[in-house]
Amino acid sequence: MSWETVIGLEIHAQLSTESKIFCGCATRFGDEPNANTCPTCLGLPGALPVLNGRVVELGARAALALGLHINNKSIFARKNYFYPDLPKGYQISQYDQPFSANGQLEIMTAERDDAGHPMEWRPKTIRITRLHLEEDAGKNVHEGLPDVDRYSYIDLNRAGVPLAEIVTEPDFRSSWEAYDYVNHVRRSLQWVGASEADMEKGNLRCEANVSVRRVGEEKYGTKVELKNLNSVRFMQRAIEYEVARHIKVLESGGRLTQETRLWDDRAMETRVMRSKEEAHDYRYFPEPDLQPLIVSEQFVEDVRRAMPELPETRRKRFGEQYGLSYADASQLVSERSLADYYEAASEASGNPRATANWIRTELLRELEANNLSAADSPVSPHELGALVRLIDEGKISGKQGKDVLVEMFKTGKPAQTIVEEQGLVQVSDTGEIDALIESVIAANPDQLANYRSGKEALFGFFVGQVIKASKGKANPKVVNERLRAKLN
Ligand code: ADP
Ligand code: ZN
Ligand code: MG
Repeated sequence: MSWETVIGLEIHAQLSTESKIFCGCATRFGDEPNANTCPTCLGLPGALPVLNGRVVELGARAALALGLHINNKSIFARKNYFYPDLPKGYQISQYDQPFSANGQLEIMTAERDDAGHPMEWRPKTIRITRLHLEEDAGKNVHEGLPDVDRYSYIDLNRAGVPLAEIVTEPDFRSSWEAYDYVNHVRRSLQWVGASEADMEKGNLRCEANVSVRRVGEEKYGTKVELKNLNSVRFMQRAIEYEVARHIKVLESGGRLTQETRLWDDRAMETRVMRSKEEAHDYRYFPEPDLQPLIVSEQFVEDVRRAMPELPETRRKRFGEQYGLSYADASQLVSERSLADYYEAASEASGNPRATANWIRTELLRELEANNLSAADSPVSPHELGALVRLIDEGKISGKQGKDVLVEMFKTGKPAQTIVEEQGLVQVSDTGEIDALIESVIAANPDQLANYRSGKEALFGFFVGQVIKASKGKANPKVVNERLRAKLN
């Protein structure tokens, strides 16, 4: 009998504010330990929290980008636990009245083949349970060897940095669905400027709850929570590892325990961190030092109006307005700067489909090789558009265009300048092309005989030879026409 995977995800995203959520300290990363602290984020007696308005605005952007409803009233609550990096002895979070709840997020997802390539993209709706606002804890830093000269330090620069916690229902049925969801959320948050959402920098952290059940069974199985997932790919692998482990235990008649496990990306396995018995009872209660957070309809409307067009809306529009395929459109909206680049370039070229092609095949390769985003491209969208236009107008060939683009990328010069400097012109002159055709035919009598006796595929051979003889300058369209006239 086969098994079904069930996954629910919890994401913590750092909101991109300059100052912390309840005090004026900087959120800057990489400063001297404890440089960015004050009585409030150190948890000193008598210090009071004051909510940072920018957190509410970015939280609202995040919620709207994920299609969530924003509650008119939410309540901050104390989540009590004792840990060295939590000086107050509690974290200010939200509990039964969160900032935002009840979302239905449509993502695009695909299973992957053995080589990791997506198979068939399909839409899937994920229910988002809630998005709440909270503060981050500090960091414990350990140095030296255990039992020899081990020192532990506490850095509270991160204490009080604003987070949005985003929790889903257990709606994922495969590790790839979870993978595609996290990427979707990351892009959405970056797109609207709510968070940098970079897992490597730790400003987006993800926990996966995983269980399995027999296909057809309604009741969920025992879940395990996975932590320490440092990239989306590691999360996907950790889930796969965990699912296989669950199935093995259950099929050999064993039982699973509800526990938290850590992913070890060197050993490529998960290990127990703590069991359910060690789980905290947080004794939540409303934070007495903060008012309920009231968010008006007008505020939500203002935030909504200030937001850029969202990626999925833009993808659909690219399909309808420019006739792009799903694959083209979705790649072009993978980042906001790329989507902006595309629209500017296609306006300059007057040929949206060709522009999409040039960006996807040629420009992105150069950008990736140089580790640049579209916003930092040495070739401006206007110049890429001009290049596409030169090819469209038959001034240079597509093949020449590729070399020109590489040169534009290297030198930053406009397409027209490079074309002039290198004396590039596409030969469309029928007299010149006819002469080339004559010499190619004369040099290949066997192929000619075979072609005439019915091997029509050889037509392509002749086209290729003529273009080669012209050093890539012959206009392929004219070559085709003249060859056909000559041979038939
Ligand atoms: P807990 O009380 O242990 O925190 P919650 O019900 O709050 O559990 O859910 C936490 C996360 O775990 C949510 O993302 C939820 O979708 C997911 N989850 C709950 N039950 C399961 C399960 N049986 N299998 C997988 N994920 C689950
Ligand atoms: Zn502070
Ligand atoms: Mg919970």
